Amino acid sequence: MKQRLTFVLLLLLLMGRMMQPAVAQNDTQPRILVQPGDSWAALSIRFQVDEAALHELNPRMNPLRQPAIGTELILPETAVPQFGILVRPKGNLLKTAVQHQTSPWSLAIRNDQSSPYRPAPYQPILVPDGTSTPQDLPVGFTKLELSQMVGVPGQAVGFRAEIEPDLTVTAVLGDNEMDVFSNGRYLIGLNGTGAFFGTQQPTLQIQVNNEPPWEQPLQFRDPANWDYQELTLTGTAAQIDQQSIDEERARLFEIWQQNSGPAQWHAPFQLPINNYLEISSTFGARRSYNGGPYRTYHEGVDFAAYGGTPVLAPASGTVVLAEKLFVRGNAVIIDHGLGIYSGFYHMSSLAVAPGDVVMPGQIIGEVGTTGLSTGNHLHWDLLVDGIWIDAQAWLDQGMDCWILAGLDQPCN
Ligand SMILES: [Zn+2]
Repeated sequence: MKQRLTFVLLLLLLMGRMMQPAVAQNDTQPRILVQPGDSWAALSIRFQVDEAALHELNPRMNPLRQPAIGTELILPETAVPQFGILVRPKGNLLKTAVQHQTSPWSLAIRNDQSSPYRPAPYQPILVPDGTSTPQDLPVGFTKLELSQMVGVPGQAVGFRAEIEPDLTVTAVLGDNEMDVFSNGRYLIGLNGTGAFFGTQQPTLQIQVNNEPPWEQPLQFRDPANWDYQELTLTGTAAQIDQQSIDEERARLFEIWQQNSGPAQWHAPFQLPINNYLEISSTFGARRSYNGGPYRTYHEGVDFAAYGGTPVLAPASGTVVLAEKLFVRGNAVIIDHGLGIYSGFYHMSSLAVAPGDVVMPGQIIGEVGTTGLSTGNHLHWDLLVDGIWIDAQAWLDQGMDCWILAGLDQPCN
């Protein structure tokens, strides 16, 4: 008994020793998750610390680019957050002081300027207000949010912003021009990313009027849990020539790349099928044909289901295509507005025609196995900004309502 107690005590002591240092080490330095508008200059002003000190504490971050949204940044232990808004004054500080109803001299002293009458350098200054987090936002932006802090390949990523009236705004993520929609005071930027996008930090660039472009990278992390599928094509499937596939694809991209005007949906998207056996292929599944390399991936979600099962509109929109295609068989494409299109393929029959306005849950066709298909199933795809994205992730994330809220529209 005594021996056992000694052993337990020894074990506890040992465990305590092993666990203590690791926890203590991680807790000493404060960290923040980088948000939109956390430029080096903004962080330096907000935490009253030299930019050089921030670079030294974060040696793995490139000092020549802004800190990437969604990454962790280490702060000095002495960091004390300041509150206020950042402005980039043109000329001297007088106009800024008048605009924000504060004394020009206190503004100059607070921002290490010798006099409010001297021209201020083109860098942000802090106008203290006691509550706001200083952010370095594009000119004329009063709020900027992202749909997710860390992007995921194969998903849509968007920003929503509150802006001053009469701004001309364009946005680019990496090398892709985003779809941008505005109703005056609110702004939405949308971007699709493919399943091969990988782990990277593309730059989000926002251009307002003729101002210098605002830039900040955004962290994308590959989930690395993609399905891998080896497919063997024989008979008719093997004979389908690449030219027919390319021609059909090119024709559909002419539809998908159109910027289709205001949002046509007003409620969360739903699954386009109620009764199915299983999801037989997920979006992004890497595909090898007849033993070749995994060069392509599955561009939609496959629902295995009995032939004749009703296929439903996932949200309201306008039918822009309803016909039999060579590869996709009996196909319906719905335009939901804001450059968002959903497609339904391999159906046995069609229940809608081009120009029809469909309601959520309305029957648009029946499950079949027409076109390049080896059995009854529904292939559902969803495109944002002309790029295929994972429709299941779109539903899980609630991007549909997040976008509407950003345009000040209800989603119910
Ligand atoms: Zn499919």
